[in-house]
Amino acid sequence: MSLEWATSGDSAPAGPETRDATNAAGDDNGDGRAFRARSGRKVQSINPATNQVLAEFDAAEVRDVQAAVADARRAAPAWRALGPGGRARYLVRLKEALFRRRHDLAALITREAGKPRLEALLAEVMVALDGLNYLAGHGPGFLEPESVPHQNLAVRFKRGRLEYEPYGVIGIISPSNYPFSIPMNQIGAALIAGNTVVLKPSEFTPQAGLGIHAIAEEARLPAGVLSVVVGDGLTGAALAGSAIDKLVFTGSVATGKRIQAELVARLLPTVLELGGKDPAIVCADADLDLASSGLVWGAFTNAGQACLSVERVYVVREVAARFAALCAEKARGLRVGAGDDPDTEVGPLIRERQLKIVEDHVAEAAASGATVLTGGRRLNPGGLAGFFYEPTVLTGVHHGMRIMREETFGPVLPIMTVADEAEAVRLANDSPFGLSASIWTRDLARGERLARSLEAGSVMVNDCLSSFGIAEAPHGGFKLSGLGRTHARVGLLEMVRVKYIDVDLLPKLPKLWWFGYDSRAGRLMERFVEFLLAPSFWTRARGALGVFVRLPGRLRSMRKTS
Ligand code: NAD
Repeated sequence: MSLEWATSGDSAPAGPETRDATNAAGDDNGDGRAFRARSGRKVQSINPATNQVLAEFDAAEVRDVQAAVADARRAAPAWRALGPGGRARYLVRLKEALFRRRHDLAALITREAGKPRLEALLAEVMVALDGLNYLAGHGPGFLEPESVPHQNLAVRFKRGRLEYEPYGVIGIISPSNYPFSIPMNQIGAALIAGNTVVLKPSEFTPQAGLGIHAIAEEARLPAGVLSVVVGDGLTGAALAGSAIDKLVFTGSVATGKRIQAELVARLLPTVLELGGKDPAIVCADADLDLASSGLVWGAFTNAGQACLSVERVYVVREVAARFAALCAEKARGLRVGAGDDPDTEVGPLIRERQLKIVEDHVAEAAASGATVLTGGRRLNPGGLAGFFYEPTVLTGVHHGMRIMREETFGPVLPIMTVADEAEAVRLANDSPFGLSASIWTRDLARGERLARSLEAGSVMVNDCLSSFGIAEAPHGGFKLSGLGRTHARVGLLEMVRVKYIDVDLLPKLPKLWWFGYDSRAGRLMERFVEFLLAPSFWTRARGALGVFVRLPGRLRSMRKTS
């Protein structure tokens, strides 16, 4: 498959070369990796800057999804048999194919998701490239069996080992905000671990999902190893309900909860990467120029549609006015427009529905006494008909407002003045979410101390969001922000079943804990426990003596009965 379809302009292309899933039992175009169905339901790829339809796809139905999972199941044994080294070579090929296609893909992501080209290149393509690079390089080492030395004398003659086995087929359901780098990193981890994958991209970004399929094809992944099923929430539900072995879901808390409620009866293992309301704390000693630049970027990058977006700031009173003024000045200077203009810094929101949520949050805050320092309105930059909203800075906010409690997922930076750091920490933790947070201070020790007191899956000191792009950093949340982790070694280990294998090196040696219980055996074991685990030296010594005296008799009687 070429990416020509992905690089054409704003007219609907003929559609990617994909398998026709009306014949999902296997009568397909032979590639075995991508599906296109005719359920009657449609998903549209829309340019959110222009509100023009780029392409329309039929949503895959239950049987299409099941067929993709069946393909993945068939492909799994051979893929697993390649071993981590063999699979790493495919990841390198994926990386190389992605590198060759980086400009096409960045352009496609900008058109379909609206983000500036620079962000598409860095936060999508580069993060995916770096993730594949990391997994190909380190994955095989992380998957090596680990020996487990035994501390207890009673089991010293056994050799323990941890082995990491693939689950089989991993289902991945993705959101629209980082439609490429999120699934690509999860796919890389699933594949290197020996699983095959079925991906369901967001209904708002089907072409980014098919871009992943195109890369897989260019890298000549074996058929069935990576399938993409394009569709809506029902397609996602079909994937969650199919015969997969684990689900990795990224999306809103509401959808995550719904999926988990469905899956709990099956005890299907899940990773849930959900929403956030990420706080930032600005200390009195912060470099205010740095903090305001960092937090303006953290709130407005991807038009505020990052799971790790800075969604609320707590600034201590003595620097609050100056900090808020700097943020307002910098937000006012941001260039809003279509992402394919190289000067654009803030693009549109993904859809009208998201724009409406942002408007409602800001309107409610303003009606409850918040001050809009800058922004607070829809925009149509250059006459564009898309879903733009002005970068908005609010002060005078409090925790009674939705803007401080619910995920806004838009270009809004609410700033709350607090008396001191203790109040900032208390308010930061006063949230059902716990994805990430940031601390801004010149005192790095203070930054680390405050980081430890925050209830969040990751905390950055003097930066925000960029932990998502650090391949070694695990990603995931506390509280409602999710379950499990993706990225890094911890995320890779989510893609494997841990098996413990134990080999007895002296099988002829009688096992004292086997049958043949009687009062003499009981006394011996009492001494044995004392010998091994008593806190006092003298009790241990008495135990050792008792074991020495009674052990030969116990061994003799065990040999007789065995
Ligand atoms: P969403 O929950 O609306 O949709 C996510 C995916 O779930 C889509 O592919 C959708 O089709 C699918 N889906 C919808 N209903 C489903 C169902 N019943 N069963 C199975 N799948 C279903 O989320 P969104 O609007 O695309 O993404 C934004 C949300 O995702 C925000 O809350 C954001 O914070 C969160 N997010 C979290 C992370 C993270 O890593 N923690 C990363 C990115 C986005």
